[in-house]
Amino acid sequence: MDHQPIDTDILHDNWDREHLWHPYTSTIDPLPTYKVASAHGAKIRLADGRELIDGMSSWWCTIHGYNHPVINQAITEQLTHMSHVMFGGFTHSPAIELGKLLLEAAPDNMNNIFYADSGSVAVEVAMKMAVQAAVARSGSHRKTNFVTIRSGYHGDTWNAMSVCDPVTGMHGAFGSALPIRFFVEQPRIPFGGEWDPAAMDQLEQTLREHHDEIAALILEPIVQGAGGMYFYHPQYLVEARRLCDKYGVYLIFDEIATGFWRTGRKFAWEHAGVKPDIMCIGKGLTAGYLTMSAVLTTRDVADTISRGEAGVMMHGPTFMANPLACAIAIASLRLLNSQDMASRVNHIESMLRQLLAPARQLPGVKEVRVLGSIGVVEMNQPVDMAKFQRQCVEMGIWVRPFGRLVYVMPPYVISDDDLTTLVRNMLQIIAK
Ligand code: PMP
Repeated sequence: MDHQPIDTDILHDNWDREHLWHPYTSTIDPLPTYKVASAHGAKIRLADGRELIDGMSSWWCTIHGYNHPVINQAITEQLTHMSHVMFGGFTHSPAIELGKLLLEAAPDNMNNIFYADSGSVAVEVAMKMAVQAAVARSGSHRKTNFVTIRSGYHGDTWNAMSVCDPVTGMHGAFGSALPIRFFVEQPRIPFGGEWDPAAMDQLEQTLREHHDEIAALILEPIVQGAGGMYFYHPQYLVEARRLCDKYGVYLIFDEIATGFWRTGRKFAWEHAGVKPDIMCIGKGLTAGYLTMSAVLTTRDVADTISRGEAGVMMHGPTFMANPLACAIAIASLRLLNSQDMASRVNHIESMLRQLLAPARQLPGVKEVRVLGSIGVVEMNQPVDMAKFQRQCVEMGIWVRPFGRLVYVMPPYVISDDDLTTLVRNMLQIIAK
């Protein structure tokens, strides 16, 4: 294995360190950042010429890899027509065509699509939809709160933060500024575990006691991402759907991370066959090219909102249905539709299972879990991110752990050789 020491003058930029905020960073003691020159397929080239095998898909996005010729072509073609036009009063072919593709891919109860700017904004829109519909349906202005499961993550905007895990999320920093939600335990039966109906007790009790205050249950189906990289039993979703119907509460699935084959299915709801009332998608939607998300809902929810007090859905972003982003998403969806993605992700899953198995014997490792193209090594103790990343860069891979979690979710185009090197080098770093 190559082990290339880092030339900090080339890879760490002092101006950047002084002036640019990176995600979740201190300005006093920022974590190192590495300067990227270009990226291609599953490889990221740094400013000193070294190449890293990408294990992160730039946080779940670059599903087809970087610099994909088909998507590059689609964006270039769209540029010659228009890069943007307001969606108020106008519509355009990229928005319509994308909408048709999304409805083909979504659960068959979905009918209306709201294009938004990012994952977090999609969550805001979904929550607003649920409140508007719940108030209109019940005639009660009290039915405006939310219930969610612990260890969730839904984004960084105000309401999205309020339904993130209350301990590991951002409640500590924002305290009483955040609306107070109902939290029930994390689904305790893991994916592949033996189902126990008692796992629904807390949710049922909360809904029984508070359904007249609750507009919706919001959760990430099957895979909880940034809140813990945890995979839970599909039966949880079946029972959650039953309880939501019983107590007159909408069900929102946040498929922003899980969508577009990441879990081995086109969307994670398919593991359970359970359809939500409202569904958020983002990240892989635009294949890592531009920020865009979408919120899908049923005709019933959409029309209930429209019959409500406001008579309209109260949201309308400037960059709604940006044509460039729509053109990218269309090209990406067509690429997905033209391949046998189930086999592709299944292949990555079996390689990850095999390659990660030895990690179970390493000291400090608590658990190893794999689902679809997501491979997770959970440690007993938090990982030193800066040190870990430096070692990754020296060994030609890109993995960004958080807390006790070291994980990979590579672009689907990764070669078997690169995937093998990625995981083997990662395990060597864990073993150090
Ligand atoms: N929901 C989930 C499940 C996510 O994983 C994320 C992003 N990590 C978001 C919402 C927020 O998306 P964005 O960062 O695009 O705002």
